[in-house]
Amino acid sequence: MPTRSGQLSVAGHLSVTGLCRRFGEVVALDEVSLDIAPGELLTILGPSGSGKTTLLKVVAGFEKPDAGRVSVDGQDITAMPPARRDIGMVFQNYALFPHLTVAGNVAFPLEMRNVGRAEVARRVGETLALVELAGYGERLPRQLSGGQQQRVALARAIVFNPRLLLLDEPFGALDRKLRETMQLEVRRLQKRLGLTTIFITHDQEEALVLSDRIAVMNRGAIQQVAGTMEIYERPANDFVADFVGESNIFHGTLTEPGIVTLSSGRRLLVNRDGKVGDRLGVLMRPERFADKGANGFAAEVVEAVYLGASLKLRLACEDGLELVVRQPARGKLPVAGQRLEVGIDADAIHVF
Ligand code: ATP
Repeated sequence: MPTRSGQLSVAGHLSVTGLCRRFGEVVALDEVSLDIAPGELLTILGPSGSGKTTLLKVVAGFEKPDAGRVSVDGQDITAMPPARRDIGMVFQNYALFPHLTVAGNVAFPLEMRNVGRAEVARRVGETLALVELAGYGERLPRQLSGGQQQRVALARAIVFNPRLLLLDEPFGALDRKLRETMQLEVRRLQKRLGLTTIFITHDQEEALVLSDRIAVMNRGAIQQVAGTMEIYERPANDFVADFVGESNIFHGTLTEPGIVTLSSGRRLLVNRDGKVGDRLGVLMRPERFADKGANGFAAEVVEAVYLGASLKLRLACEDGLELVVRQPARGKLPVAGQRLEVGIDADAIHVF
């Protein structure tokens, strides 16, 4: 990783293998395995209770797994105490030390590591500049805005050149605008430092903005790990398709190569060969519909919502199918009860 002095190394390859953790009846981690490349930012995306924080705690050493292994650069750290793991962390409510100045907070991890005074001052200064808080060193945390406080927390997490950076919903408490600014800042900083990073969120948009790859979790198990586009365009199952983005998901049978027949009897033209008789899921993203397409739907508008940049339509088709469709907002807003046609091409339908 490029350190602040510009030296390069390739440290920070994190590997977790077969991690299991139960709390009584609850399976918080169910055989979780992940490989994160040096310098990669991987987001763990999942609903509340899916095991995200437990996974992070196991990596950080605050939680012991019942089974499995954590290693960094080939070194098994599963049993290593947290303080020796060399991992920087930021949590949503990881309060700064209120009685210490900003500089004091950022200096803390260095002082714990017995770094000399002059070196501490130099690195604190550099790191505060990096998070754009040069000149704020003498303030107390309560004299800062929420976003500035989280930047101090970030500075404290990276000041000692950690091998890994772990962020657990760090911007959950910030308003939307600030959140978006911070997302871009973290991404810029993480890339610049080449820091291997795990970012936890339940916000799919945040995951799409930030990540090299996304791991979608549900009930303690990883559902899919892939690049952002792959996750959105080619989700592995219903859960991922539904959790990431808006979706129209149906199930049917491959009745001929290239044709999925739904239970309503509707035949959908898709780009998929396979064994006739296979049960398949089909995903149609709302924005992939147009006025016409290889698959046409005559429908009645149930609801039309104007969203500024787009229109969101809920449509009821003649065969009972309900669709959510997004269209660019132009012309007249359709009204409930109005009949219209939409279409979607075979290419725009994802089959899983
Ligand atoms: P959130 O987004 O709400 O923070 P999460 O995905 O981070 O959720 P975890 O905090 O990892 O989820 O929790 C996973 C499951 O394990 C949940 O059902 C939770 O109630 C349970 N759990 C976590 N820690 C403990 C504990 N110390 N004792 C008992 N159950 C726990």
